[in-house]
Amino acid sequence: MSTSTPSRATNGAGSPQVLAGLPEGVAQKVQDFVGKPGRLLIDGEWVEAASGKTFETLNPATEESLGRVAHGAAEDIDLAVGAARRCFDDERSDWRRMTPSERGKVIHRIGDLIEQHADELAVLETLDNGKPLTIAKAADVALAADLFHYMSGWATKIEGNTIPISAVTSPGSEFLAYTRKEPVGVVGQIIPWNFPLLMAAWKLGPALAAGVSVVLKPAEQTPLSALRLGELMLEAGLPVGVVNIVTGFGDAGAALAAHDGVDKVAFTGSTEVGRLIVQAAAGNLKKVTLELGGKSPQVLYNDADMDVAISGAAHGIFFNQGQCCNAGSRLYIEREVYDEVVQGISDEAKKIKIGPGLDPETQMGPLTSAEQHEKVLGYVSSGLDAGARAPTGGGRVGDRGYFVEPTVLTDTTPDMKVVREEIFGPVVCAIPFHSEPDDVIKSANATNFGLASGIWTRDINKAHRTANRLRAGTVWINCYSVFDAAMPFGGYMESGWGREMGHNALENYLETKSVVAQLA
Ligand code: NAP
Ligand code: MG
Repeated sequence: MSTSTPSRATNGAGSPQVLAGLPEGVAQKVQDFVGKPGRLLIDGEWVEAASGKTFETLNPATEESLGRVAHGAAEDIDLAVGAARRCFDDERSDWRRMTPSERGKVIHRIGDLIEQHADELAVLETLDNGKPLTIAKAADVALAADLFHYMSGWATKIEGNTIPISAVTSPGSEFLAYTRKEPVGVVGQIIPWNFPLLMAAWKLGPALAAGVSVVLKPAEQTPLSALRLGELMLEAGLPVGVVNIVTGFGDAGAALAAHDGVDKVAFTGSTEVGRLIVQAAAGNLKKVTLELGGKSPQVLYNDADMDVAISGAAHGIFFNQGQCCNAGSRLYIEREVYDEVVQGISDEAKKIKIGPGLDPETQMGPLTSAEQHEKVLGYVSSGLDAGARAPTGGGRVGDRGYFVEPTVLTDTTPDMKVVREEIFGPVVCAIPFHSEPDDVIKSANATNFGLASGIWTRDINKAHRTANRLRAGTVWINCYSVFDAAMPFGGYMESGWGREMGHNALENYLETKSVVAQLA
């Protein structure tokens, strides 16, 4: 990633053939958007970074530049926090004066606009992140629209309680005691590159329903869809200053996490950076929620429906090029069916059509960055060096673009890095087990992470017994990676603090005020 002054012309969406085959209207909109000079959204205006610098964002399928975005840093974060602060602190601002119902309507319109611009947003996401266009449209964009629609309904349903307290201050004293749920204030939101638009939606939807104001810092690898979302949010009628967007690098995120004008930071990303966020937040003891990494187990019993389980477990790891925080990367297989399942998953892996995300045939795109490509291949080598075998995959694909073969590793041992650490790529460790429940539950829970897990069995009792004992925020039974705006998602242990989605997500952005009135 290089930075420079904005004099360098953008070359739009890379070489012209990249967009060939797309409907003309969509290709033109995408070209126009990525060709715009890089800007930050601060106080309802699109402005250059204070330094005047920009940086390139790349198409991971071609390694070509897509265009340049503003290189925001601490000074820009300060301006953005100032705008969010003014918007929140002024009780007469358009945002603070909106009724919950009006707020809900704006949030709903954001969802509508995402749907109306679904093709364009999906292409932007595919170009910037690499994922197949079919997935970008059916998963990322559709779920983002859904999330705003779902959260729009909560704006009018944020309620406190009346509480029958037992306090006595004088004989016969009487009270009216109640709680109010109030927006937490100015929120810094920092998101990763694996589902750029969807992660923005997960953060912004509940935040807007709660009535806070926001500074959003997208990942440096994938800034485009968040910027387009910023335009759509203004079009939907979101008042100025409610959402400010600062594109930039980790230092911009660090400045946001440490800023004294921020009341709460909501972070999604690596566990390593999550720890830094907690430290940075200590200055003013801002509230923190974290959605971090995982090393999620899938438990496949010998009584599973093998066709469903094999293709489902393969989807559980290979979806989104394996770049899912919830990826089912440790697959525990009951001994009797181990060989059959390893063969089956390997066959599934070999069938996956790898290519540029815009090719309609593509089922797996490139990884999102050169760094990630190197990291994933490095993990595979470390596993092979330590004695693991790869019945399928293990290498890069082609010599241009960050493609990696979907990979199955066998003969691993629990101490290997490939078994213990998050790879964040299409690599699964297939591990045999002998008996339920003790063996496999113990192995599945032998991790500091606790984000997600999967169970494959026809035995309903075994399924729920196992679900009760897995230490993870989500358990999928005979399915994997099924997400819904209404269903909370988040991690146990080092996978995070708090929950995204569902009504639980509102709590991330609310304070509870207790009001006790003594009646005369
Ligand atoms: P990352 O390096 O932690 O980056 C995430 C975000 O934090 C980016 O916007 C990044 O900016 C920013 N950042 C980097 N250093 C920072 C600092 N010192 N202070 C504040 N912000 C900083 O993670 P990633 O590599 O982009 O994403 C992959 C990780 O995210 C994986 O571990 C994955 O499991 C996790 N993830 C979790 C969930 C979930 O819901 N639990 C969802 C998606 C991803 P730059 O991009 O400029 O570095
Ligand atoms: Mg990119």
